[in-house]
Amino acid sequence: MAHLELRGVHKSYGPVHIIHGVDLDIRDGEFVVFVGPSGCGKSTLLRMIAGLEAISAGEVRIDGQVVNDTPAADRGLAMVFQSYALYPHMSVRQNMAFALENMGLPQAEIDKRVARAAAMLRLGDYLERKPKALSGGQRQRVAIGRAIVRDPKIFLFDEPLSNLDAELRVATRKELAALHAEIGGTMVYVTHDQVEAMTLADRIVVLQAGRIEQVGAPLELYNRPANQFVAGFIGSPKMNFFTGAVTQADGAGVTLRLGDRHAVSLPYGAAALPANLGVTLGVRPEHLEVVETGPADIEALITLAEHLGGDTFFTCEAEGLPPITVHQPGQLMRGRGEMLRLRIDAAAAHLFDRDGRILLHGRDALASQAQARAAH
Ligand code: ADP
Ligand code: MG
Repeated sequence: MAHLELRGVHKSYGPVHIIHGVDLDIRDGEFVVFVGPSGCGKSTLLRMIAGLEAISAGEVRIDGQVVNDTPAADRGLAMVFQSYALYPHMSVRQNMAFALENMGLPQAEIDKRVARAAAMLRLGDYLERKPKALSGGQRQRVAIGRAIVRDPKIFLFDEPLSNLDAELRVATRKELAALHAEIGGTMVYVTHDQVEAMTLADRIVVLQAGRIEQVGAPLELYNRPANQFVAGFIGSPKMNFFTGAVTQADGAGVTLRLGDRHAVSLPYGAAALPANLGVTLGVRPEHLEVVETGPADIEALITLAEHLGGDTFFTCEAEGLPPITVHQPGQLMRGRGEMLRLRIDAAAAHLFDRDGRILLHGRDALASQAQARAAH
């Protein structure tokens, strides 16, 4: 196990600047997930840690030692890729043992390590099979087993589940979580899938265009996204964003005009927002409540209803606003063409400025208002 530090890490390919100064500390035993859209530089960053790409500027340190010029093979890391890259002519056992034989470990030690990894990954019955006689999930488990037997200081994973079908992806994801709980190694895991990030990570690093947007525990990112990019990336379905402006703000609350004709009042009294400030209100689909009676913030027409049994999803439209996604737990028997009256959960909404910077999180604004009231 090891502690990993990135200090001002840059990467350029000729004149093209890909990674723009990444600073990050990964603790011993931590499971850190790099997440971000395709092309944002996740693999490049991981490959620089691995020693498969040169570092253009900055430092990578493992246990305090700068490893910029240390060859990949001497960094004590093991990497698992999306393509399993198993040796097709070798059995599962041979695939797992190969690196250990090259290291010159005694046979008894090799057998012990392979048996332990096979037991952990439930590969015991497949040790004599060739990769072509395995399912995709089993092959990926062999690739993970090949990393485990080397007892690396740090595990690096680059989208290891992307080639698996949906069901296997979920099963293998759970196995990875269990594996981390069992062996406790330092793990850095790249994915573009925010559900994988949320379920596996101790901390998530959200990247965009070669820069870190936010680092935090999964629920920190969900509850307090630092900006509109993170707010839109974390959470599924995606957060709704309504652009508008502040029409009134005083001790009682904030009134926003959304689109051309919707007015919404939110009890964010302690937030000192100037009138006419351009804002974007962010509300997750699960924080729009369908109400039958009482005041509603938005009335919207259902254009698509998706009844999954356990959950109901609506896509709605309201004049002057982008399509609205609503997520209701359970079964709500409404369909296309009907109106929904929606109430915004003020404690779970977010306000951003027009550049996507956070102005306030509803939960904090409500807490401040309650504090201010209590002080009177
Ligand atoms: P991700 O893994 O997040 O999808 P990558 O790290 O693979 O993204 O790529 C980041 C950016 O770097 C992309 O724009 C990609 O085109 C570019 N890139 C990656 N490798 C090279 C290379 N060898 N030469 C030039 N550009 C590259
Ligand atoms: Mg990649």
